[in-house]
Formats: sequence, C-alpha cells, structure tokens
Amino acid sequence: MASILIIDNEHPIRKDIYTFLTRDGYDIRTTFNGAEGIELAITNDFEFVMIEQKLSDYDGLKVLQSIKQVKPETVCFIIASEPCYEIAVEAANLGACSYVPKPLSYEGLSFHLSKGAKHRQLYIEARNLRRERYNNLLELSREKSMFKTVLNSINGGVLVINSDGALVYFNNASLVNLNLDNLEPGEPILKKLPPQIIKQVSEYILADKFTSKVSEIELEIIPNNKLYIQSVCSHIPRNNDNFSGVVLVTRNITQKREIEQVKSQFVSMVAHELKSPLVAVEGFLQILQNPEIKLTDEKKDEFIKRSSERVKSLFQLVNDLLDISRMDKKEKYRELEVINFLEVVQSTVNLFELEFKKKNILVKINADEKIPMIKAERLEISRIVSNLFSNAIKYNKTDGEIIISLFGNENYLNFSIEDKGIGIKDTDKPKVFQEFFRALNKQTRNVSGTGLGLTIVKRIVESYHGKINFESEYGTGTKFNVKLPIFKN
Ligand code: ATP
Ligand code: MG
Repeated sequence: MASILIIDNEHPIRKDIYTFLTRDGYDIRTTFNGAEGIELAITNDFEFVMIEQKLSDYDGLKVLQSIKQVKPETVCFIIASEPCYEIAVEAANLGACSYVPKPLSYEGLSFHLSKGAKHRQLYIEARNLRRERYNNLLELSREKSMFKTVLNSINGGVLVINSDGALVYFNNASLVNLNLDNLEPGEPILKKLPPQIIKQVSEYILADKFTSKVSEIELEIIPNNKLYIQSVCSHIPRNNDNFSGVVLVTRNITQKREIEQVKSQFVSMVAHELKSPLVAVEGFLQILQNPEIKLTDEKKDEFIKRSSERVKSLFQLVNDLLDISRMDKKEKYRELEVINFLEVVQSTVNLFELEFKKKNILVKINADEKIPMIKAERLEISRIVSNLFSNAIKYNKTDGEIIISLFGNENYLNFSIEDKGIGIKDTDKPKVFQEFFRALNKQTRNVSGTGLGLTIVKRIVESYHGKINFESEYGTGTKFNVKLPIFKN
C-alpha cells in the first residue's frame, strides 16, 4: 500500500477526496507542522510527501530540501495556495516532482500521484543500476588485482601477446626468465625476444585459426649455462575457431639442465670404466680360445690370472656404483649404533696388515685417552677408514710411514690419516673427490683402483653432517682430515 504524508497548516483535502484516495489504496497521514513533517518523512518510508509551500513554522521549500537530502527516493510535491512561477522552478530544482496548486481535486491528485509513482520507479531503477555498476566495477577491480597478485606470485613467467604482436600482460618472473629490464604493455614485444622464441611465437600469431597445439622449446638465455629456460607457447582462444593472442609461459630450468649434464657425464664415465676391463677380458679369452695361437701353460695361467683380476676389479666397481646410487637415493635404512672410532681404526689396521708390511710401512696411532663416541652405521664408518687407509698404503713409498690421529672436542670427533707418500699435484687437488678421478703418473701406474673411493668417503661423511678435507705436497705426503659430530646422550 502506498503511503502519503501531507504537511500542511490545515487539512488540505476534503473528506470525500480522502475517502476516494483511501479506497484507491493510499494510506494517508497528516501533520500541521514542518518540523514534525521532516521528522516523520525521514524516519518512515513514505512514497509521497505533499508539502504546503507556506507552513506556519517553516518554509515548505526548506522542508522539501531536508527530506530530499535524506530520502532522495521519496516523491515530494509542493502544494500552494498562491502559486508562483519562480517558486515552482525552485521547487523543481530542489527535487520536487510537481508543483500543485490548491484547491486539490481528486482527479488532479490522482494524476500527480501516478506521475509521481512513475517518477519514483524510474529513480529507484536508476539507483539500482548505479549500485550494480558500482559493485561490478568493484568486483572487476578486485578480480584484476587478484589476477595480478596470483600471476606475480607464481614461479613461472607469463607473457601475453595479442595477435598484432603487442604486449598485453607480463609478470615479474617473465622479465627475469627472459633477462629483460622492463617492458611496457602495448609495446611491440617480438623484437625484444630471443630469435628462437620469436620463431615460436610467430607461428602462432600468423596462424589463420585457433589451434590447441602447444609448442615447447628449451633455450639458453645467458651463455655458459648461467640461464636456461623452457618456453611454452599456446593460443588464447576466442569464440569458435578464432584466437585473441598468444600466451608464453617460461620456466627457469638451469638447475635441471645442470643435473642432467652431470648425470649424462656420469653415465658415460661409468660406461667407459666398465668397458675397459671387459675389453681386456674378452681379449684374453679370444687368445686362449684361438687354436692357432700356441701358448705355454705359464702364459695361459698368466692370462687367466689377469682376466680374473680384471673381473674382480669390475665387481669392485659395480659395488662402488651401487653404494653411490644407494646414497643418492637416500635409500638407507641405517642401522645406527654407538661406535668407538678407535676400535674401527684398529680393526682396519689389522685387516690391512699384510699390505702395509709388504711395503715395510710403519703405522702409528695417536689417540686421546678418552675418545668421544659417535652414532652411525658401523659399515659406513669402516668404509671411511678403510678407503683412506688403503689410499695411504697404495700411494705411499716403500719404508714409508702412516700416522693416524684421533681426538675429540666439544662437538666433533677429529680423525686424520697422514702418509709420507707420493703426494698429490696441485693441478690434481681439485679433482680428488670427483667420481673416477685417478692421478696418472709414474708412481700410480701400477696401482689399481676405481677412482670412486674418495667420492664414497666424502658422501658418507657429509651424510652425517661431517666434514672432510686434505693437505698434500707432491713428493712429500698427504693428510686427510675428517670431522664427525659426536654422540651426546
Ligand atoms: P678406489 O676406488 O679403489 O679407492 P682410488 O684409490 O684410485 O680407487 P680414490 O680413493 O677416490 O680412488 O682416490 C682418487 C685418486 O686420488 C687416487 O687415484 C690418487 O691418484 C689420489 N689419491 C688419493 N689418496 C691419495 C694419497 N693418500 N696420496 C696420494 N694420492 C692420493
Ligand atoms: Mg682409494
């Protein structure tokens, strides 16, 4: 039911008109006072307010203005006993819907009220549209900033190019991945990209219809393996068969490339190392099987012995490789135990007794009275000691010397093996821990080994958060130092 508030010094409508309006569904309220009229109008929801231009306490236009300020959707009429053109104009400027002269008739009022109802409806529709638009804009700007934040926080570079080759969007990662300082949306981007990417993107931009095909290339951005990226290009679809541009996603794959390179180098080194003993054994077997080659029994025995040595070294190599791969995969279910390092040292020295005695090497063990315990897998610890000790024997001189020292401090157990042997050349020093590295010189020519011993030792030490280093002087001797965290309970 529509409601009308009438603010007038007197009842402006006759009883019969009042009855007709009530019959038409209007709920009518009246007040004789401008101040009360304002109060009623702004605290209630009247659809219509009729205001006498000359109220006893207020100017009707003032009342109109006060109501419109708070309730702009309320349809207001100014009713006047003495109509005046200027006031009608002013009332219209202040938002009055009509200026209605007195006396009021039923027909006149009905006309003004229905006109006012349309006026109000239009006002409300316009206001709703305004609100909707405002909300949409708000939503849009929220989405835009969210989109920006998301794209900037992803690790990969995203670059959007329109079908004219102009830059539409880019995130920070794309600048880094393409080694570019800055870009401006709208600028022709192609000429700033590397030739491989220009070729990749151009195929998409010049295409005559949309394709779901994705092209993926890998390329070097900064030489010497400093920056290597993967660039993935695809169309951005637009209705039907069309496309609106191209999106280029880039990813830094420098580290992945490095790992791949190391892996492939490792595989080729392994293949090489496996091949040479196999070739040797095959050679011996061919000679032994060839009926045309007459061999003395002694020679035959020698070939069989040498074959068997090569097969043994092959086994050693395979075992070392398995050890490395086991450590790489961290496939270790270590059986940790509290270990007395000195015991491991002593049993290793006993194990190699025959070998160091053969070379007449003197072995000294200098150990603190109280050595801290460590917690580790026994086999791995004896692998460290036996590798270093066997090197100290293999690369020692006849009548040489080996000094083993053991002492603890607050956090570490310090273990060192020093020999007075052949030493390591300065040029070889950086390579000593590399897989398969073996120094090639007169003194090492007849010493067998796979070149994996120190690689394994270093990996074991580091896997226990320990440290290993060495000092060596070519021709004088070498000292390997190992630190392992002690066990505190
Ligand atoms: P293995 O796998 O059987 O241990 P290896 O002894 O040749 O073979 P590493 O223990 O890894 O392999 O040692 C690598 C190389 O470092 C050796 O071939 C040798 O040239 C050099 N080297 C290691 N220890 C010493 C040492 N104490 N004195 C001199 N050179 C050494
Ligand atoms: Mg060794």
